[in-house]
Amino acid sequence: MPETLKRLIDMIHFLPGIGEKTAAKLAFFLLKANSAYVKNFAKTLAELHEKVMECDQCHGMTDIWSPLCKICADQKRETSLLCLVEDYLDMMSIERTGVYHGYYHVLWWVISPIAGTLPNKLNYISLFERISENKEIEEIIIATNPNIEWEATALYAIEHMPREIKISRLSKGLPHAGSIEYADEITLLSAFKGRG
Ligand SMILES: [Zn+2]
Repeated sequence: MPETLKRLIDMIHFLPGIGEKTAAKLAFFLLKANSAYVKNFAKTLAELHEKVMECDQCHGMTDIWSPLCKICADQKRETSLLCLVEDYLDMMSIERTGVYHGYYHVLWWVISPIAGTLPNKLNYISLFERISENKEIEEIIIATNPNIEWEATALYAIEHMPREIKISRLSKGLPHAGSIEYADEITLLSAFKGRG
């Protein structure tokens, strides 16, 4: 097999959830695909780390030329609501439902003593600063992910809130095996409406 093709298969196989067979299939797809598409694909990949960065405020993702993401920069959203999510995919899943119009804070990690992930690795400091500085925030909505690590992560946030603030959680009914990322839009919509 040609060196470059073998390397491509190995690189695709490295991606989460991609077995060797699928990796080979995708590599052959790229080999046979329209060359403009492949060039554009490679260019986008090369620019990924150069042009995408974390938002200064919510730790979601933003373009390098804009320190605030589109959500944080949008002044028409509800300033009283702040939704705490585990990662950016959760944030995107909630955004897709269109039911929530407040702001977000992404922690990026969950507390896991077994994996050696301690609270100082999570974006708690910026969260607590945000809450103490911005008195317009009235409610923290904890986006529920059904696992023990996220439970501990949420609990740490609740226990260390810098001031009295309403804390709500999305209603149950989210799939137990999955997470927000995999919940369908109707489920998420009713979880937001039934929060408490
Ligand atoms: Zn942001």
